[in-house]
Amino acid sequence: MAEFTVPRLEKLNSQPEVQKLLKGLLDHPGVQTFLWVGPEGSGKKTYALAMVRSLFCQQGPDCPGCPTCRQVLSKSHPDFFWLERPEGKNEITVESTRELDKKLSNAPFSAPCKVAVIAEADYMNFDSQNAFLKTLEEPPAKSIVILLAEKTGDFLPTVLSRCRQVRFPALPSSTIAGILEKDHGWKKAEAQNAAQEANGNLTMALKLGDESWAQFRDKVCADLDRALQGPDEEWLALVNEYDQWEPDFLEEVERTATQRKSEVLQAALQVYLGLWSRRLSGEVPVPGKLSSLPTGEILECLQKHQDMIPMYLNAKMILDHLFLELREGFKRGELSSRSFMELSVQI
Ligand SMILES: [Zn+2]
Repeated sequence: MAEFTVPRLEKLNSQPEVQKLLKGLLDHPGVQTFLWVGPEGSGKKTYALAMVRSLFCQQGPDCPGCPTCRQVLSKSHPDFFWLERPEGKNEITVESTRELDKKLSNAPFSAPCKVAVIAEADYMNFDSQNAFLKTLEEPPAKSIVILLAEKTGDFLPTVLSRCRQVRFPALPSSTIAGILEKDHGWKKAEAQNAAQEANGNLTMALKLGDESWAQFRDKVCADLDRALQGPDEEWLALVNEYDQWEPDFLEEVERTATQRKSEVLQAALQVYLGLWSRRLSGEVPVPGKLSSLPTGEILECLQKHQDMIPMYLNAKMILDHLFLELREGFKRGELSSRSFMELSVQI
Protein backbone atom coordinates (compact mmCIF):
# COMPACT_ATOMS: atom_id res chain seq x y z
CA MET A 1 0.00 0.00 0.00
CA ALA A 2 1.36 3.44 -0.92
CA GLU A 3 2.35 5.82 1.86
CA PHE A 4 -0.18 8.64 2.04
CA THR A 5 0.75 12.15 3.11
CA VAL A 6 -1.84 14.86 3.52
CA PRO A 7 -1.07 17.36 0.70
CA ARG A 8 -1.58 21.11 0.76
CA LEU A 9 -5.18 22.29 0.55
CA GLU A 10 -4.87 23.19 -3.13
CA LYS A 11 -4.25 19.52 -3.97
CA LEU A 12 -7.21 17.98 -2.17
CA ASN A 13 -10.39 17.30 -4.09
CA SER A 14 -12.61 14.93 -2.09
CA GLN A 15 -14.91 17.75 -0.90
CA PRO A 16 -15.27 20.21 -3.81
CA GLU A 17 -17.67 22.63 -2.04
CA VAL A 18 -15.62 22.78 1.15
CA GLN A 19 -12.48 23.13 -0.95
CA LYS A 20 -13.83 26.18 -2.76
CA LEU A 21 -14.92 27.85 0.47
CA LEU A 22 -11.64 27.27 2.31
CA LYS A 23 -9.52 28.39 -0.63
CA GLY A 24 -11.55 31.59 -0.70
CA LEU A 25 -10.79 32.08 2.97
CA LEU A 26 -7.07 31.54 2.39
CA ASP A 27 -7.12 34.29 -0.23
CA HIS A 28 -9.21 36.66 1.88
CA PRO A 29 -8.57 35.92 5.53
CA GLY A 30 -10.92 37.47 8.02
CA VAL A 31 -12.80 34.69 9.74
CA GLN A 32 -10.76 33.39 12.66
CA THR A 33 -13.05 30.86 14.32
CA PHE A 34 -14.53 27.85 12.55
CA LEU A 35 -16.70 24.87 13.31
CA TRP A 36 -16.38 22.12 10.74
CA VAL A 37 -19.22 19.62 11.04
CA GLY A 38 -19.58 16.28 9.30
CA PRO A 39 -19.76 12.53 9.87
CA GLU A 40 -16.72 10.43 10.73
CA GLY A 41 -14.52 9.80 7.72
CA SER A 42 -15.74 12.82 5.73
CA GLY A 43 -12.29 14.42 5.67
CA LYS A 44 -12.32 17.02 8.45
CA LYS A 45 -8.92 16.13 9.95
CA THR A 46 -7.32 15.78 6.54
CA TYR A 47 -8.64 19.17 5.45
CA ALA A 48 -7.47 20.75 8.71
CA LEU A 49 -3.90 19.51 8.23
CA ALA A 50 -3.97 20.47 4.56
CA MET A 51 -5.18 23.97 5.36
CA VAL A 52 -2.48 24.52 7.98
CA ARG A 53 0.15 23.39 5.46
CA SER A 54 -1.18 25.93 2.99
CA LEU A 55 -1.19 28.67 5.63
CA PHE A 56 2.34 28.01 6.90
CA CYS A 57 4.29 26.68 3.91
CA GLN A 58 6.25 29.15 1.79
CA GLN A 59 6.97 26.72 -1.07
CA GLY A 60 3.77 27.00 -3.08
CA PRO A 61 0.99 24.47 -3.78
CA ASP A 62 3.35 21.82 -5.19
CA CYS A 63 5.48 21.60 -2.05
CA PRO A 64 6.36 17.92 -1.69
CA GLY A 65 6.99 18.35 2.07
CA CYS A 66 9.39 21.08 3.26
CA PRO A 67 10.55 21.14 6.91
CA THR A 68 7.59 23.42 7.80
CA CYS A 69 5.07 21.05 6.19
CA ARG A 70 6.65 18.09 7.93
CA GLN A 71 6.35 19.83 11.29
CA VAL A 72 2.69 20.52 10.58
CA LEU A 73 2.00 16.92 9.62
CA SER A 74 3.74 15.58 12.72
CA LYS A 75 1.84 18.19 14.77
CA SER A 76 5.12 19.47 16.19
CA HIS A 77 5.18 22.96 14.64
CA PRO A 78 5.52 25.58 17.40
CA ASP A 79 2.61 27.63 16.01
CA PHE A 80 0.23 24.73 15.46
CA PHE A 81 -1.77 23.18 18.29
CA TRP A 82 -3.81 20.03 17.86
CA LEU A 83 -6.07 19.18 20.79
CA GLU A 84 -7.78 15.78 20.94
CA ARG A 85 -9.86 13.90 23.43
CA PRO A 86 -7.32 11.88 25.44
CA GLU A 87 -7.33 8.14 24.64
CA GLY A 88 -9.99 6.31 26.61
CA LYS A 89 -11.49 9.54 27.96
CA ASN A 90 -15.00 10.69 27.28
CA GLU A 91 -14.43 14.44 27.28
CA ILE A 92 -12.11 17.31 26.58
CA THR A 93 -11.64 19.00 29.93
CA VAL A 94 -11.35 22.63 30.93
CA GLU A 95 -7.66 22.20 31.85
CA SER A 96 -6.71 21.34 28.30
CA THR A 97 -8.69 24.21 26.75
CA ARG A 98 -7.14 26.67 29.25
CA GLU A 99 -3.71 25.47 28.24
CA LEU A 100 -4.62 25.95 24.61
CA ASP A 101 -5.84 29.46 25.39
CA LYS A 102 -2.48 30.30 26.89
CA LYS A 103 -0.56 29.00 23.89
CA LEU A 104 -2.72 31.02 21.48
CA SER A 105 -2.21 34.27 23.35
CA ASN A 106 1.49 34.62 22.42
CA ALA A 107 2.63 35.98 19.06
CA PRO A 108 3.43 33.43 16.36
CA PHE A 109 6.92 32.00 16.52
CA SER A 110 7.76 31.57 12.83
CA ALA A 111 4.48 31.07 10.91
CA PRO A 112 2.24 33.91 9.65
CA CYS A 113 -0.36 32.94 12.26
CA LYS A 114 -1.10 30.45 15.02
CA VAL A 115 -3.62 27.71 14.42
CA ALA A 116 -5.46 25.62 17.00
CA VAL A 117 -7.48 22.59 15.91
CA ILE A 118 -9.76 20.93 18.43
CA ALA A 119 -10.54 17.52 16.97
CA GLU A 120 -13.74 15.92 18.31
CA ALA A 121 -14.71 19.28 19.78
CA ASP A 122 -18.19 17.86 20.44
CA TYR A 123 -16.53 16.16 23.41
CA MET A 124 -15.68 19.49 25.08
CA ASN A 125 -17.67 19.51 28.30
CA PHE A 126 -19.65 22.64 29.22
CA ASP A 127 -16.92 24.01 31.52
CA SER A 128 -14.44 23.55 28.77
CA GLN A 129 -16.70 25.32 26.23
CA ASN A 130 -17.37 28.15 28.65
CA ALA A 131 -13.68 28.62 29.33
CA PHE A 132 -13.09 28.90 25.59
CA LEU A 133 -15.88 31.41 24.85
CA LYS A 134 -13.72 34.48 25.24
CA THR A 135 -11.17 33.16 22.77
CA LEU A 136 -13.94 32.41 20.29
CA GLU A 137 -15.43 35.86 20.77
CA GLU A 138 -12.16 37.77 20.49
CA PRO A 139 -9.48 35.49 19.12
CA PRO A 140 -5.94 36.83 19.62
CA ALA A 141 -4.53 38.65 16.59
CA LYS A 142 -2.98 36.31 14.02
CA SER A 143 -4.71 33.23 15.34
CA ILE A 144 -7.18 30.79 13.81
CA VAL A 145 -9.28 28.28 15.74
CA ILE A 146 -10.92 25.30 14.03
CA LEU A 147 -13.33 23.08 15.93
CA LEU A 148 -14.08 19.69 14.33
CA ALA A 149 -17.27 17.85 15.26
CA GLU A 150 -19.66 15.18 14.04
CA LYS A 151 -22.70 17.03 15.31
CA THR A 152 -23.65 20.43 16.72
CA GLY A 153 -26.13 19.25 19.37
CA ASP A 154 -23.61 19.20 22.23
CA PHE A 155 -22.44 22.80 21.82
CA LEU A 156 -23.57 25.80 23.79
CA PRO A 157 -25.52 28.18 21.53
CA THR A 158 -22.91 30.83 22.37
CA VAL A 159 -20.18 28.61 20.90
CA LEU A 160 -22.19 27.96 17.74
CA SER A 161 -22.93 31.63 17.20
CA ARG A 162 -19.26 32.57 17.41
CA CYS A 163 -17.98 30.14 14.80
CA ARG A 164 -18.26 30.11 11.06
CA GLN A 165 -19.81 26.70 10.30
CA VAL A 166 -18.59 24.59 7.40
CA ARG A 167 -20.48 21.40 6.48
CA PHE A 168 -18.63 18.25 5.43
CA PRO A 169 -21.09 15.87 3.72
CA ALA A 170 -20.44 12.10 3.78
CA LEU A 171 -18.29 11.12 0.82
CA PRO A 172 -19.90 9.36 -2.16
CA SER A 173 -18.54 5.82 -2.58
CA SER A 174 -17.10 6.70 -6.01
CA THR A 175 -15.00 9.41 -4.34
CA ILE A 176 -13.82 7.01 -1.64
CA ALA A 177 -12.91 4.37 -4.23
CA GLY A 178 -10.93 6.98 -6.18
CA ILE A 179 -9.01 8.10 -3.08
CA LEU A 180 -8.18 4.51 -2.09
CA GLU A 181 -6.89 3.82 -5.59
CA LYS A 182 -4.99 7.04 -6.26
CA ASP A 183 -3.74 8.10 -2.85
CA HIS A 184 -3.36 4.73 -1.18
CA GLY A 185 -2.43 2.49 -4.09
CA TRP A 186 -5.28 0.00 -3.69
CA LYS A 187 -6.35 -2.25 -6.57
CA LYS A 188 -9.50 -1.08 -8.30
CA ALA A 189 -11.76 -3.97 -7.26
CA GLU A 190 -10.64 -3.82 -3.62
CA ALA A 191 -11.11 -0.06 -3.55
CA GLN A 192 -14.63 -0.35 -4.94
CA ASN A 193 -15.63 -3.08 -2.49
CA ALA A 194 -14.32 -1.21 0.53
CA ALA A 195 -15.93 2.04 -0.64
CA GLN A 196 -19.32 0.33 -1.01
CA GLU A 197 -19.02 -1.24 2.38
CA ALA A 198 -17.92 1.90 4.20
CA ASN A 199 -21.11 3.94 3.70
CA GLY A 200 -19.45 7.29 3.03
CA ASN A 201 -16.82 6.88 5.74
CA LEU A 202 -13.26 7.03 4.38
CA THR A 203 -11.72 6.17 7.76
CA MET A 204 -13.82 2.99 7.81
CA ALA A 205 -12.90 2.17 4.19
CA LEU A 206 -9.19 2.43 5.05
CA LYS A 207 -9.64 0.07 7.99
CA LEU A 208 -11.03 -2.54 5.62
CA GLY A 209 -7.53 -2.96 4.17
CA ASP A 210 -6.35 -4.20 7.55
CA GLU A 211 -6.36 -7.96 8.03
CA SER A 212 -7.57 -8.08 11.63
CA TRP A 213 -10.40 -5.78 10.63
CA ALA A 214 -11.30 -7.96 7.63
CA GLN A 215 -11.42 -10.99 9.92
CA PHE A 216 -13.65 -9.12 12.34
CA ARG A 217 -15.99 -8.15 9.52
CA ASP A 218 -16.23 -11.69 8.13
CA LYS A 219 -16.95 -13.16 11.55
CA VAL A 220 -19.58 -10.53 12.43
CA CYS A 221 -21.45 -10.90 9.14
CA ALA A 222 -21.48 -14.70 9.39
CA ASP A 223 -22.45 -14.62 13.10
CA LEU A 224 -25.32 -12.17 12.75
CA ASP A 225 -26.75 -13.85 9.66
CA ARG A 226 -26.67 -17.20 11.45
CA ALA A 227 -28.13 -15.89 14.70
CA LEU A 228 -31.00 -14.20 12.88
CA GLN A 229 -31.96 -17.48 11.21
CA GLY A 230 -31.27 -19.93 14.04
CA PRO A 231 -33.02 -20.89 17.27
CA ASP A 232 -33.31 -18.48 20.22
CA GLU A 233 -30.40 -20.11 22.08
CA GLU A 234 -28.11 -19.17 19.24
CA TRP A 235 -28.62 -15.44 19.48
CA LEU A 236 -28.66 -15.45 23.26
CA ALA A 237 -25.24 -17.13 23.17
CA LEU A 238 -24.05 -14.62 20.61
CA VAL A 239 -25.20 -11.60 22.64
CA ASN A 240 -23.25 -12.97 25.61
CA GLU A 241 -20.19 -13.68 23.49
CA TYR A 242 -20.15 -10.16 21.99
CA ASP A 243 -20.59 -8.66 25.44
CA GLN A 244 -17.22 -10.16 26.48
CA TRP A 245 -15.45 -9.94 23.13
CA GLU A 246 -12.13 -8.14 22.66
CA PRO A 247 -11.43 -8.37 18.93
CA ASP A 248 -7.87 -7.90 17.59
CA PHE A 249 -8.62 -4.60 15.93
CA LEU A 250 -9.01 -2.87 19.30
CA GLU A 251 -5.60 -1.34 19.89
CA GLU A 252 -3.87 -1.55 23.23
CA VAL A 253 -5.69 1.49 24.50
CA GLU A 254 -6.96 1.73 28.02
CA ARG A 255 -10.74 1.76 28.03
CA THR A 256 -13.46 0.86 30.44
CA ALA A 257 -15.54 -2.29 29.88
CA THR A 258 -18.50 -0.09 28.88
CA GLN A 259 -16.43 1.74 26.29
CA ARG A 260 -15.07 -1.50 24.85
CA LYS A 261 -18.55 -3.01 24.59
CA SER A 262 -20.01 -0.02 22.81
CA GLU A 263 -17.00 0.22 20.46
CA VAL A 264 -17.31 -3.45 19.53
CA LEU A 265 -21.05 -3.18 18.91
CA GLN A 266 -20.66 0.07 16.99
CA ALA A 267 -18.08 -1.56 14.73
CA ALA A 268 -20.09 -4.79 14.39
CA LEU A 269 -23.22 -2.92 13.30
CA GLN A 270 -21.17 -0.78 10.92
CA VAL A 271 -19.81 -3.81 9.05
CA TYR A 272 -23.18 -5.55 9.09
CA LEU A 273 -24.80 -2.39 7.70
CA GLY A 274 -22.17 -2.51 4.95
CA LEU A 275 -23.22 -6.05 4.06
CA TRP A 276 -26.90 -5.06 3.89
CA SER A 277 -26.07 -2.01 1.75
CA ARG A 278 -24.49 -4.36 -0.75
CA ARG A 279 -27.51 -6.62 -0.52
CA LEU A 280 -29.73 -3.62 -1.20
CA SER A 281 -27.78 -2.74 -4.32
CA GLY A 282 -28.15 -6.35 -5.51
CA GLU A 283 -24.42 -6.91 -5.40
CA VAL A 284 -24.72 -9.68 -2.81
CA PRO A 285 -27.72 -12.06 -2.61
CA VAL A 286 -30.02 -12.06 0.44
CA PRO A 287 -30.18 -15.48 2.18
CA GLY A 288 -33.60 -17.10 1.65
CA LYS A 289 -34.69 -17.00 5.30
CA LEU A 290 -33.85 -13.31 5.56
CA SER A 291 -35.78 -12.27 2.49
CA SER A 292 -39.23 -11.91 4.08
CA LEU A 293 -38.55 -8.23 4.92
CA PRO A 294 -37.69 -5.43 2.50
CA THR A 295 -33.92 -4.92 2.54
CA GLY A 296 -34.30 -1.15 2.93
CA GLU A 297 -36.27 -1.62 6.15
CA ILE A 298 -33.63 -3.95 7.56
CA LEU A 299 -31.00 -1.30 6.84
CA GLU A 300 -33.08 1.34 8.61
CA CYS A 301 -33.54 -0.93 11.60
CA LEU A 302 -29.79 -1.58 11.84
CA GLN A 303 -29.05 2.11 11.49
CA LYS A 304 -31.57 2.98 14.20
CA HIS A 305 -29.87 0.59 16.62
CA GLN A 306 -26.42 1.81 15.76
CA ASP A 307 -27.57 5.36 16.49
CA MET A 308 -28.81 4.24 19.91
CA ILE A 309 -25.38 3.09 21.08
CA PRO A 310 -24.03 6.45 22.28
CA MET A 311 -27.34 7.20 24.03
CA TYR A 312 -27.93 4.03 25.98
CA LEU A 313 -24.44 2.79 26.86
CA ASN A 314 -25.81 -0.70 27.47
CA ALA A 315 -24.51 -2.43 24.34
CA LYS A 316 -25.87 -5.84 25.28
CA MET A 317 -29.40 -4.49 25.60
CA ILE A 318 -29.22 -2.82 22.21
CA LEU A 319 -28.04 -6.01 20.51
CA ASP A 320 -30.78 -7.94 22.27
CA HIS A 321 -33.35 -5.43 21.13
CA LEU A 322 -32.09 -5.52 17.57
CA PHE A 323 -32.36 -9.30 17.39
CA LEU A 324 -35.81 -9.26 18.91
CA GLU A 325 -37.11 -6.69 16.48
CA LEU A 326 -35.58 -8.31 13.40
CA ARG A 327 -36.39 -11.89 14.27
CA GLU A 328 -40.03 -11.04 14.96
CA GLY A 329 -40.04 -9.09 11.72
CA PHE A 330 -38.72 -11.99 9.66
CA LYS A 331 -41.36 -14.29 11.15
CA ARG A 332 -44.24 -11.93 10.49
CA GLY A 333 -43.02 -10.41 7.27
CA GLU A 334 -43.22 -6.89 8.70
CA LEU A 335 -41.19 -4.86 11.14
CA SER A 336 -43.01 -3.56 14.17
CA SER A 337 -42.26 0.02 15.04
CA ARG A 338 -42.53 -0.42 18.76
CA SER A 339 -40.36 1.88 20.76
CA PHE A 340 -37.17 0.86 22.48
CA MET A 341 -38.77 1.35 25.90
CA GLU A 342 -41.73 -0.89 25.11
CA LEU A 343 -39.52 -3.67 23.84
CA SER A 344 -36.93 -3.32 26.54
CA VAL A 345 -39.59 -4.05 29.12
CA GLN A 346 -39.91 -7.53 27.63
CA ILE A 347 -36.17 -8.22 27.68
ZN1 LIG B 1 5.85 23.06 2.44
